[in-house]
Amino acid sequence: MPTIRVLPDELVNRIAAGEVVERPSSVVKELVENSLDAGASRVEVELASGGRSLVRVADDGCGMDGDDALLALERHATSKISSADELAHISTLGFRGEALPSIAAVSRFELTSAADPALGGIRVTVEGGRILAAEGTARARGTTIEVRDLFFNVPARRKFLRAPETELRHAQEALWGAALARPDVAFIFRHGPRTLIDAPATADASRRLKDLWRGADRVVRFAVHGGSMEAEGLLAPGAGRGRPNLIILVNGRAVRDRLLVGAVLRVLREAGGGFGGSRVVVDLKISPDEVDVNVHPSKAEVRFARSGAVFALVERAVREGVAASQGKVDVRRLEEGPSPVNRVAEDPHRGYGELWRRRSRNDEPPLFSHPAYGESGSAPVVGERADEFPWPVTGPEQSRSGARAGPADTPFGRLIGQYRNSFLLLEDGHGLVIVDQHVAHERVLYERILRRLAGEETPSQGLLEPRLVEVGEARAAALPSVADLLRRAGIDAEPFGPDTVRLSSLPPELEPEGVERVVEDVLDRATAADGVPERAAEEIEEELAASLSCRAAVKVNHALSPQEQRALLDDLASTDNPYRCPHGRPIILRLSQEEMERRLGRR
Ligand code: ADP
Ligand code: MG
Repeated sequence: MPTIRVLPDELVNRIAAGEVVERPSSVVKELVENSLDAGASRVEVELASGGRSLVRVADDGCGMDGDDALLALERHATSKISSADELAHISTLGFRGEALPSIAAVSRFELTSAADPALGGIRVTVEGGRILAAEGTARARGTTIEVRDLFFNVPARRKFLRAPETELRHAQEALWGAALARPDVAFIFRHGPRTLIDAPATADASRRLKDLWRGADRVVRFAVHGGSMEAEGLLAPGAGRGRPNLIILVNGRAVRDRLLVGAVLRVLREAGGGFGGSRVVVDLKISPDEVDVNVHPSKAEVRFARSGAVFALVERAVREGVAASQGKVDVRRLEEGPSPVNRVAEDPHRGYGELWRRRSRNDEPPLFSHPAYGESGSAPVVGERADEFPWPVTGPEQSRSGARAGPADTPFGRLIGQYRNSFLLLEDGHGLVIVDQHVAHERVLYERILRRLAGEETPSQGLLEPRLVEVGEARAAALPSVADLLRRAGIDAEPFGPDTVRLSSLPPELEPEGVERVVEDVLDRATAADGVPERAAEEIEEELAASLSCRAAVKVNHALSPQEQRALLDDLASTDNPYRCPHGRPIILRLSQEEMERRLGRR
């Protein structure tokens, strides 16, 4: 047995750095968070070669005196919490006391700080975790931290750093998060001689958004409340191309949550053209005991007690933003307005028949296309009595013993028909079943594509005329890393000059227009992917499957023959999870007999 020993601090810090410091953007994030925790009103960030050679963060916060500055470099040294109880309601961005020692362990590090300039400041120099010098110096109140040659002593890590331009983009994204969370603080971001962000302090969040993202001239706000949570945000529609920029804040902390990101991207995608390249900020306020921020060393991931509710709220909020930006009234608002049922309730003497006749005269599209409700397409006209409402109404006795439904002709019940060319309606033993045809098809395709990517044989069809897509140099440079994956999905893509990609074949499900977007999505994901190769590969594969299936799935407002409807339902039933799309959104909704009767005042 080898002897067991306790590792020296230097080594422990270096190991911890592996989790906290992934790339220059992590340094930017940690240092800026410290500045904000220190109450800074102005934060200046400067990078050289994407942060590989230099990250400098200067603030005018509370600063540290000599003793504190040295203590701050010790592992688990923090001024932010002192007891386990406080972990449950953390109000600062930091609390683990790990960032400074970790960063100092893997760089040439210099901390200059003063809490009270009259007493003088301190400068501490550290190299690879070893304190080289600590000396007095003059400076104004605040702190400046310089991190040079990140990973100079960890060659394996240094190898994983990407081109300066890629690292710069990550760093800038880290700054966006902080800057959007705190519009009341001024932020400056420089890369070498270029000033990339100059955002003065403001009380107006949309002003801040415009300062960060040039070209975002129109910004709409949205806000949705749901019980103990609140999702607010901003949406600046983009030029219609490219991946949207997305910042998600949870109680003022920028987080990376795949489910939430997926939800927002999907809402944008489904809103159709015009939302590519959009900028979206979602600011989620949630009671601190419903979210755990202490699940990830860099605090980028959080855990929600009720993630389903969070997810639904964020989706609703972004939909609202999309609707507002299109000048459309949100559908849910209409629901709350005078619906047919409400109007009937207002006037108890007015019968359903009257209502239906009025509606049918308004030339509304037919409600049902199934033969049971008349192929002619005219809206059903019924008598004055509620009993004749065109619905398989069951008496209370029957529903208690299970509603009476016709024989099931699909795995989900008996097919009634297609509603508004968008939803499939069915009835089963419990009530009315509504299936979102687009999301259902997306689920089917998503699994089919992932299976295909895992296998060998891929059907694809050559294009008579190859398509040239200009994607920009950064994305074109990422092509070799994903060409093989694309080929497995049936897309042949090769470089064509420094910023163009040539597409010569596509998978059978896809229209030629769709393939360009898929390739763009995948290249975007490849340039933005996490540094860890396996994780990146997985992310890219999922992006490809999600992008392909979304583009190839039948859209809403698309008529399907009864055979097509049944085939879709059969396919859906054979997926891993027919009830939720890959991003967690529901596919099937059931309106139970009880619910229906309760709402119609029958119970
Ligand atoms: P944490 O932020 O989790 O407390 P850090 O390692 O990031 O851990 O920082 C350790 C301590 O150093 C902080 O708790 C804080 O007291 C001090 N500190 C770090 N950066 C600054 C700063 N910019 N201004 C003032 N104090 C700072
Ligand atoms: Mg910190």
